[in-house]
Amino acid sequence: MDRLSDIGTIKTLLSRHGFSFSKSLGQNFLINPTVCPRMAGLCGADKETGVLEIGPGIGVLTTELCKQAKKVVAVELDRRLLPVLAETLEEFDNVKVINGDVLKLDLAALLREEFPDMQVAVCANLPYYITSPILMALLESRLPVSSITVMVQKEAAERICAAPGTRASGAISLAVQYYASPKVLFEVSRGSFLPAPHVDSAVISLTVRKTPPVQVQDERRLFAVIKAAFGQRRKTILNAVSAGLSMPKETLLAAIESAGLSPTARAEQLTLEQFAALVSALPDGPA
Ligand code: SAM
Repeated sequence: MDRLSDIGTIKTLLSRHGFSFSKSLGQNFLINPTVCPRMAGLCGADKETGVLEIGPGIGVLTTELCKQAKKVVAVELDRRLLPVLAETLEEFDNVKVINGDVLKLDLAALLREEFPDMQVAVCANLPYYITSPILMALLESRLPVSSITVMVQKEAAERICAAPGTRASGAISLAVQYYASPKVLFEVSRGSFLPAPHVDSAVISLTVRKTPPVQVQDERRLFAVIKAAFGQRRKTILNAVSAGLSMPKETLLAAIESAGLSPTARAEQLTLEQFAALVSALPDGPA
């Protein structure tokens, strides 16, 4: 098979299969030949490791992962790509393509079944319309995954990797920090894709933590408070959280003060430790 990042090869392949791109499935395929080898090299895959890929497309990253990893399992939603992948991955015997929606699959069961005795890494050029749901599904379910190396929209990369307590931070930065240690690896211009999207991209890596950096009794409550605080990020935490969680202001004010925080602080000024202190200071009750 000719190089899968070559535009001519892609066009010939796709027209032979009568395939047309679906914008709603986030189908922008990589045509920059340097990106996939770089991602595969940085994702930690080796001959002892399994890799879960989400959205293989025509298999441009998959082929690189197959060369590096012991086994690759690629989940692709678009059924029309299955015959294309059967052709492009023909030479590899360490790959399995699963037709399905990554958000609907039981990933814990899938990993148990497909990688029973291997360390697993996730590596993918994500469909951007579901970046956060995919990352949160991977992290919240505490899958036995050591790292997640993914291409996302550049702005999403900046938000996800922003340090809590800084202006660029958002609810997703704090949620990701709770489960992993994130960093931006490299940027990828919009011209590296076919069709070219309207945004630039970046590859990020999340090293999954063994234990969270803060301890709280109720994780769901921590995330509910973070979400409410960032839901109206221009408002003070007192106003945003009391409105978002329908909590009496006096109760919340007492907790904010007992956690040593200012009631006029904004969500973006708070670290994960400070959110945890606030949640621990709240009286028992629903989120
Ligand atoms: N990996 C290929 C590449 O780098 O050229 C394609 C990446 S493209 C940005 C995203 C891929 O995710 C597409 O192949 C699309 O069909 C697939 N996809 C979209 N939604 C999905 C979902 N919910 N579950 C699994 N795959 C999905």
